[in-house]
Amino acid sequence: MAPMNGTTCRLCGALLLDPPALTLERVPVGAQAFLDSPGDLNQHATVDLILAECAGCGLLQLRNQPVAYYREVITASSVSATVLSARRQQFCAFIDEFGLQGKKVIEVGCGKGHLLDTLEELGVQAWGLESGSASVAAGRAHGRRILEGYPGETTASDPIFDAFFCFNFLEHSPHPGEFLKGVRGLLKDGAVGIVEVPNFDNDISIQRHYDLVIDHLLNFTSQTLGLTLAFSGFDVLSVGTCWDGDSIRMVVRKRAPSNYQNWKTNNPVLGKMNDILADPESGRVAVWGASHEGLTLVSMVNHLPVCILDSAQFKQGKYEPSRGIPIVAPGELESRKIDTVIVLAAIYSEEVVQTLVHRMGFCGNIFRVEKGLLVQVQGRH
Ligand SMILES: [Zn+2]
Repeated sequence: MAPMNGTTCRLCGALLLDPPALTLERVPVGAQAFLDSPGDLNQHATVDLILAECAGCGLLQLRNQPVAYYREVITASSVSATVLSARRQQFCAFIDEFGLQGKKVIEVGCGKGHLLDTLEELGVQAWGLESGSASVAAGRAHGRRILEGYPGETTASDPIFDAFFCFNFLEHSPHPGEFLKGVRGLLKDGAVGIVEVPNFDNDISIQRHYDLVIDHLLNFTSQTLGLTLAFSGFDVLSVGTCWDGDSIRMVVRKRAPSNYQNWKTNNPVLGKMNDILADPESGRVAVWGASHEGLTLVSMVNHLPVCILDSAQFKQGKYEPSRGIPIVAPGELESRKIDTVIVLAAIYSEEVVQTLVHRMGFCGNIFRVEKGLLVQVQGRH
């Protein structure tokens, strides 16, 4: 995790550009920091917001410390009939598109869990994750399934959810990478989700800086939200805006680990090299090329070649580091009585073959790599 001294990026750890993109003086210390009376006014009720751009990933972010309640979702909007109606339509389409009927979904940062009722009505098993204990208690009192905690800080053991939603919450996180890693930990491989954050593209294009609030440590554009999600193990399936352009909406899928098992075990060049080196008819075998391709392959073969030929003088007289095979000048081809040459010289392979045949008059077997296969280009088949 990057040190949080206000000079390095909360996502990638690169330096924040100086001077800052914008400094706003004397704004409220928090969107929820209401006073009980005008007499409570004092200098501690305001703060200077410092908005800086990361020199690495470009993410715009506040240098300020997070508000004390950043783990909690505090909103009045989830009870609005307009929002509920729009969410219902959105959920309907999402559930249909990804076949989520009957599946387990979770809203990360659910507050009291109002949206869980709508999701349940649409035929999914809806859960919420919320850190504010009063909200958790209030939601549970309505019979809603709410896990208490914060992404990355829950005790949930196995990843169990097929989908997730995260609405206007990620931008509050001081450590977005850790936050999204925590979300990933709740999900099955291949799980899908919707992430919405305030649309800072909008703020930039209409020169609107009054949206800045200390609660929103991260001010995402489409580009930096996409980077943040990709950097955190999610493939972005679609990008759009919603709420009249005020929010960016991305549909994402948890990236599953790729399967490299066949790639590691079914290497046709290595297999063919082993065949050639094990075949008595190959006679004395040399490899041409003490570069990465040849050295790596030679370190893995079952039977060793007699020597490695290489025209680089600084390699000649040395030994291959994993098996101790001598590296010699191509001119030693004859004195070492080589019958078969396996050319592993990458882009120089054709040139090496031409040298062997026309300049050195080599009449033995020659193999070289073509289109990922080791093929014989001279000699008895
Ligand atoms: Zn960065």
